[in-house]
Amino acid sequence: MEIKRTHLAAEITPKIEGSEVVLLGWLHEKRDLGGLRFLLLRDRSGLVQVVANKKTAQPDLWEALSSIKRESVLALGGVVKSSPQAPRGVEVRVKWVKPLISSEDPPIDIVGKTQADLDTRLDYRIIDLRRSEPQAIFKLQNTITSAIRSFLYDNGFIEVFTPKIISTATEGGASLFSVFYYDRLAYLSQSPQLYKEALTSAFERVFEIGPAFRAEESDTLRHLSEITMVDVEGAFMDYNDVMGLLDGLIKKIIMNVNQNNADELKALGRDKFTINFPLPRITYDQVTSILDEKGISYEKEGDLGTVELKALSEELKGFYFITDWPTKARPFYAMPIKGKEDRCESFDLMYGWIELASGATRINDESILRTRMTSQGLNPDAFKTHLKWFKYGMPPHAGFGLGLARLLMAVSGKDNIREVVMFPRDKRRLEP
Ligand code: ATP
Ligand code: MG
Repeated sequence: MEIKRTHLAAEITPKIEGSEVVLLGWLHEKRDLGGLRFLLLRDRSGLVQVVANKKTAQPDLWEALSSIKRESVLALGGVVKSSPQAPRGVEVRVKWVKPLISSEDPPIDIVGKTQADLDTRLDYRIIDLRRSEPQAIFKLQNTITSAIRSFLYDNGFIEVFTPKIISTATEGGASLFSVFYYDRLAYLSQSPQLYKEALTSAFERVFEIGPAFRAEESDTLRHLSEITMVDVEGAFMDYNDVMGLLDGLIKKIIMNVNQNNADELKALGRDKFTINFPLPRITYDQVTSILDEKGISYEKEGDLGTVELKALSEELKGFYFITDWPTKARPFYAMPIKGKEDRCESFDLMYGWIELASGATRINDESILRTRMTSQGLNPDAFKTHLKWFKYGMPPHAGFGLGLARLLMAVSGKDNIREVVMFPRDKRRLEP
């Protein structure tokens, strides 16, 4: 860039009153008050008020300011002056403006007085992402992913990247997308489950933050077809160890959000989080007793549906674990509890009635794994590549898969997952 920015909008404070500054950014808003023209310039740090006075401005500057449309990209220079009415207590008295590229009138309102419906906002997502609320949501996401990475690095996990084009299903054939792979059929991975488990035999502790694809038939506010999963797997750990790890992880995330994102929480109308750790744990059988007391029916030994979970969340708010699920209701690789084989060492991390993560101690014995596959109606031959690793020292291990967007819903307070994914994919939406 020929023109060098001297300050970001957020750096225009009373401390630098009197300084000459050069700013770069977008024209967020423009107001004409007769002899005064107010601009709000937006950059990655926020907004700053810029003012031109007809009496003192050069005529060509005054003209330039009248024709510039919102969302045009500008460079401008001026002097910082105190202004009690301005949002930051200071404004920039503009001396020159150079439009770098002009914009058409934005198709949706960015200033936020009248908010378009979500579908329209998603159609114009890149423009929508300039609004303060989506900005806040994705800044929270950034705090979350960086907290996850640093927490897991500190705990000896290494980040891995497993293939997303695969030859066989992870947990059976349901909800997979197929793709043409040269002259044969392949699938988009619905989870790195089998890879991360196998990798514990090489690295002990691994994690991946990556995409997973699910051809969800149900159209809900919490399911998308493409998601970002946080997958964690550790050798010599069981499900209690992993729940402890998740306690630490959620604690770190909440701490960092409280510390770094006061402005974003405010933009979303959220308070800082006060959460007690360790998070409450309740067993599946305790949950069904509560449901029995409430007179709510559920599938015996089955997964808990929305109605059941909503009823439960009247008793349990915020983050908590549901543990010791029926073995029958969980995937083949979950370890049955010794002496109580119809329950397994598994858990879901919940936020209210929404599932955020599922985890378990995994079976690391090949013959037990084969038996479990058969009893779940799966053909062990279809898992030949995976089962092969179990012959060569597969350690005891445990882990979890956490839906990043589900966690971001919890932190941002949004109840539609499409708000917290930049470019959501569902049955209807494949663009932008
Ligand atoms: P659900 O019961 O909510 O459909 P699941 O039990 O089928 O989820 P898992 O296979 O346990 O999902 O996946 C681990 C995590 O990934 C879930 O706890 C959830 O946070 C997230 N997740 C799974 N499927 C989706 C989806 N279609 N859209 C968004 N997040 C998802
Ligand atoms: Mg689950």
